[in-house]
Amino acid sequence: MQNTIKEEKPGAKDFSKLDILPALKEQLAVISEKCIKCKLCQKECEFLRKHGKPKDIADSYNPDDNLYQGMPFECSLCQLCVAVCPVKINPAFMFLEMRRETVRRGNGDYPEYNTILNYEKRGTSKKYSFYFLPTGCDTIFFPGCTLSGTRPDKVQKLYEHIKKTIPSIGIVLDCCTKPSHDLGRDEYFQKMFQEMKEYLMINGVRNVLVACPNCFKVFKKYGDGISVRSVYEFMFQNGLPDTEQVHGVVTIHDPCALRFDESVHNVVRDLVSAKGLEIKEMPHHGKKTLCCGEGGSVGFIAPDLAKNWGSLRKKEAEGKMIVTYCAGCANFLSSITPTSHILDLLFEPSATISGNVRVSKAPITYLNRLKLKSNLRKASQNGVIRERTFSIPVETKGGNLKRFLFLAVIVAAILAVRYTGVTHYLEQNSLRELIQGYGVLAPLIYMLIYTIAPALFLPGLPITIVGGILFGPFWGVLYTISSATAGACLAFLISRYIARDWIERKLKSPRWRMLDEGVEKHGWKIVAFTRLIPVFPFNLLNYAFGLTKIKFLHYAVTTFFCMLPACIAFIVFSSSLLELIKGKISPTFVIGIGLIILVSLIPLFYKRYKTKNSS
Ligand code: SF4
Ligand code: SF4
Repeated sequence: MQNTIKEEKPGAKDFSKLDILPALKEQLAVISEKCIKCKLCQKECEFLRKHGKPKDIADSYNPDDNLYQGMPFECSLCQLCVAVCPVKINPAFMFLEMRRETVRRGNGDYPEYNTILNYEKRGTSKKYSFYFLPTGCDTIFFPGCTLSGTRPDKVQKLYEHIKKTIPSIGIVLDCCTKPSHDLGRDEYFQKMFQEMKEYLMINGVRNVLVACPNCFKVFKKYGDGISVRSVYEFMFQNGLPDTEQVHGVVTIHDPCALRFDESVHNVVRDLVSAKGLEIKEMPHHGKKTLCCGEGGSVGFIAPDLAKNWGSLRKKEAEGKMIVTYCAGCANFLSSITPTSHILDLLFEPSATISGNVRVSKAPITYLNRLKLKSNLRKASQNGVIRERTFSIPVETKGGNLKRFLFLAVIVAAILAVRYTGVTHYLEQNSLRELIQGYGVLAPLIYMLIYTIAPALFLPGLPITIVGGILFGPFWGVLYTISSATAGACLAFLISRYIARDWIERKLKSPRWRMLDEGVEKHGWKIVAFTRLIPVFPFNLLNYAFGLTKIKFLHYAVTTFFCMLPACIAFIVFSSSLLELIKGKISPTFVIGIGLIILVSLIPLFYKRYKTKNSS
């Protein structure tokens, strides 16, 4: 793995002249002064092996350089480096401050984070949030978004269980906004969290029982005036649900958010043992636990680094079931190795050990949260109820506007077909006549539109479907593949020769830098890979390749051949649409559907192949 930072000279560097956040200056100075470059942290961390030792990173930090703006977003903020550091310094703090600096400069709004930020925004919205503070309530249960979505039944059972000890316990479904915190959006995080905290305090809440390690960390660090405790400690001291004993050997994954909270580590082990299970520890546990891969939202921009953490976990588990106490870790790890949440084990021990617990995945998780809210609301009497209406606009690019435009186009198309008499042209013969009316111009106009579309970031799929309908399977494929390749090449050439600076500004996230590294290592194969496995948005990809060192001819030929399977599938499918509208299922339609399924399965085949090779 290449090291992107050059080796720096010994001795502390002076950062006082840099125009950066004071907290970052402080962190850089500490790391620069105290790091002895012993490499112990590098041994444990792929991110540091890639970018260099903390002192070298600190000393060469340049806030104006794209590399330093994006690089801290590849650190999972897991603090393993802190746990192994002999001089007790905290590189993770430095990387978090670097993230904040990037955001302060207006450069941290990577579109890759839209998903997680929208998820967070839903959590704090009027629709999803719910507060019930019964009369006399000074303690609330705060289950967190992921647990409520994946295991709403456990949240309800646990709430009822806690009520036996604290009858006046309240419940709050809201988001602690840790994603924004970790993405360096400090202003947003502070405003949202403080508003929630103040509301709770004004209403007499002084204690919070949390199920999620991330919420725990946020309340502990920023919730002064409210004391925080994990529900696992609470359960151990106040009694467990009355469920059966089980036998077997498991291992425990300690979430990195609670890396230094030894009492929680111990209590979770006591709970697991209390159910009759034997624990075999993984080499990295407790203070030296590994990140599951979810930390710092790294997976959105550096999926390889995230996967690497997950694979290490899988390897250390050696096939044993992992029990964890973070719903996020459980989600991430269960996709690569058998993993359960401690609440599964406590409430459904036998089903957990036999791997039969029902755990929901998105988008069902959203419905679960609404259902949970509705159930809680029905059962809430004599107390304060709140749905959160406080919000700060979050700029996530495109999402709603794109959805609105898509819907508008569909509605307009349906109305046009219905009221303009255009249904006449849905007859194959009429349509052909119409095209023939344009003579040689029809395919030319179609190809011209398709060539320009990628450069203008217009989606290719609707144009492909029109091509199949208008020209049939043979000519449709011919016109489409040649013009789509021409379009991809046009964007590539614009990026390489005309608008390099503009494109570079657009592709500022570290994920795009990885593409450059990939091209350097694997040449045309990386073009083939990204065309067949849709990791990157297609239109941006064309521009991105223009910035790499790949030869134009290699790019064009690989693009042509690797786009061909999807092109054939969609053209064959769409060429049968007219028949379908008339109620006839033709063999072309069946073949088209089959081809689309095959093409869509390529990423799955690839994932299986990768998993097989890495196990
Ligand atoms: S916080 Fe974790 S990912 Fe970041 S440098 Fe430290 S060990 Fe590596
Ligand atoms: S372990 Fe500590 S002293 Fe050693 S290289 Fe890492 S940060 Fe520096």
